[in-house]
Amino acid sequence: MLRRIAPIIFGFALLCFFIPWESFSAFGVNLVTLNGIQLVAGTTIKGPSMFGMQDVEKIPCNPFVLLTFIATIMGLCLNFLNNKIKEIGSAIISGIAIVLLFLFHNSLLKESMGILQVGTGFYLLGISFIAIIAIDIYLLILHTQPSNIYVRNRQSDKFCSQCGVKSSNDAMFCSECGHSLK
Ligand SMILES: [Zn+2]
Repeated sequence: MLRRIAPIIFGFALLCFFIPWESFSAFGVNLVTLNGIQLVAGTTIKGPSMFGMQDVEKIPCNPFVLLTFIATIMGLCLNFLNNKIKEIGSAIISGIAIVLLFLFHNSLLKESMGILQVGTGFYLLGISFIAIIAIDIYLLILHTQPSNIYVRNRQSDKFCSQCGVKSSNDAMFCSECGHSLK
């Protein structure tokens, strides 16, 4: 059940790139909103027109958002593997993504002196990665617990009624004296 949740959250994380990530506002008025994909690919925005002239500004690709996007896709692909590396890998990728989001947030604040704000997509993505890490750690703990196969094997060991020597549970005859174990 939980195994299926991690890829769903990664899918959701990918959708987070299509909702507002960064908004530019002045005097309480929201002027420009950019989504994650626009920050990955770079875009051109039209600023407020002043004196009849439209201010066109080129927004370059944001390296932090680009790397977060790549990490999200890698995490999604990793979750389709049926492997033990899956949980460790997706937890590490999510951790890296959280660091990248943090760096993006920091660079935005430094650059803009508070004019630019991070949006819903940014926060939802951060929450998604935290949830993935929590699930992966839970699954890893579950996997490292000793299985009960060993215990079951021990219980069904056979002891020879003739000499008392232990034989494996699938043995037909005693390995010591050859007495039938059936
Ligand atoms: Zn025996």
